[in-house]
Amino acid sequence: MSLARLRDPIAAVATAAGRGAVGIVRASGPDLAPLVQALFGRALAPRAATLLPFTAADGSVLDRGLAIHFPAPHSYTGEDVLELQAHGGPVLLQLLLARVLEAGAGIGLRLARAGEFTERAFLNDKIDLAQAEAVADLIDASTEAAARSAARSLDGAFSAEIHTLAGRIVELRTLVEATLDFPEEEIDFLEKARAHERLGAIEAAIGAALARARQGALLREGMRVVIAGQPNVGKSSLLNALAGAELAIVTPIPGTTRDRVAETIQIEGVPLHVVDTAGLREHAADEVERIGIGRSWEAIAGADAVLFVHDLTRRGDAGYEAAEAEIATRLEGADVLHVHNKADAAAPAADDGVVLSAKAGTGLETLRRELLRRAGWQAQPDGVFIARARHVDALQRTLAHLHLAQAHAAQRDAALDLLAEELRLAHQALGEITGEFGTEDLLGEIFGRFCIGK
Ligand code: GDP
Ligand code: ZN
Repeated sequence: MSLARLRDPIAAVATAAGRGAVGIVRASGPDLAPLVQALFGRALAPRAATLLPFTAADGSVLDRGLAIHFPAPHSYTGEDVLELQAHGGPVLLQLLLARVLEAGAGIGLRLARAGEFTERAFLNDKIDLAQAEAVADLIDASTEAAARSAARSLDGAFSAEIHTLAGRIVELRTLVEATLDFPEEEIDFLEKARAHERLGAIEAAIGAALARARQGALLREGMRVVIAGQPNVGKSSLLNALAGAELAIVTPIPGTTRDRVAETIQIEGVPLHVVDTAGLREHAADEVERIGIGRSWEAIAGADAVLFVHDLTRRGDAGYEAAEAEIATRLEGADVLHVHNKADAAAPAADDGVVLSAKAGTGLETLRRELLRRAGWQAQPDGVFIARARHVDALQRTLAHLHLAQAHAAQRDAALDLLAEELRLAHQALGEITGEFGTEDLLGEIFGRFCIGK
């Protein structure tokens, strides 16, 4: 976090690639007055949109648009920020960016790396690490619930909760550290301060935060579901029924081939990444089918749940049953949920699992509830904040250190130095969430995943 790194002015196209009504070129640095002067031959009123021609170096007009100068520290990054709002054509925006870089050559303006604007906002204390992550999560959100929870995190709801919890640990740390200095009175001191009870209350609060973070991570990551089974049992029909009935925001996942169709559907806002596998047959007819089947097995290995679809109308057929047994053997070890389809056309089976009709739409609600149950989803009363595996992990470690602290505190001649150390480690683990104790590696990992211009 050296100052030299902060002083490097940066620029990038801030809007999405492709065409749009408006596109934005953004620059940030400690002092952009020379850049504004070079571009427009004048200064701009702070935080006011000024309609101006954007000209090339030779004076020819590239576009007309709005220029806004946000003087430091009242900007997104906390530095001087210049925003040029032009028409959103990719070629035009690249020309405009090139022009800005050229005009800023004198102050060392360079192209921004991925996530660098948001990284500066973090380094300048505009937002904390959890909020910075929420920026990316808001942009990447695949369902409305995920977007809303990301917005809550960005707004600081998650961070505020973490800060409150950290504050309570700090109080206790202060108390224990102070007691360490007066060893003869220590037991009495801690008892008077109800240290044991307070530790228990903090543990409970961290446990609750952990449960909510798990829900948030589920909203962000979703659940990977594979629909498997023989050809013609109704796998594609089931996927369509699940997607259609939810009025889902359906996003095709790139890279899928004709043998494997993947879609993201949502159930109560939880994204479900569903893969409809090619018919799973042991002996493939040709090379293409063989490859398709290979991919199906790969998808199954990485799935959170496998829907093994059966056709009720074909029960008892020897060839059908043999193929079922073969698939069942190969699915051993996977988290399988049996789905008995075509209940509209045949008597339901007595087996375990869900009986439904993809065609008639019956039994789908039971399947949805079962999927949510398996995902560990519980609608949270006071709103879920978006969270990541990183946050869940940090909260788990915090809790583990608090448990150890509790164990030390419970000893007759309480091992105060060990108690103090566990509290310190708990505090540190919790602080990783907001970046209080962030390492350079962690920062690189988080901001490197952003797109350029954010
Ligand atoms: P897949 O090969 O497993 O993906 O199966 P499809 O979804 O393509 O369906 C195969 C056939 O079964 C089609 O003719 C569907 O109309 C039919 N089918 C699918 N679901 C049902 C159902 O619930 N009831 C009935 N009667 N037919 C169904
Ligand atoms: Zn199909």
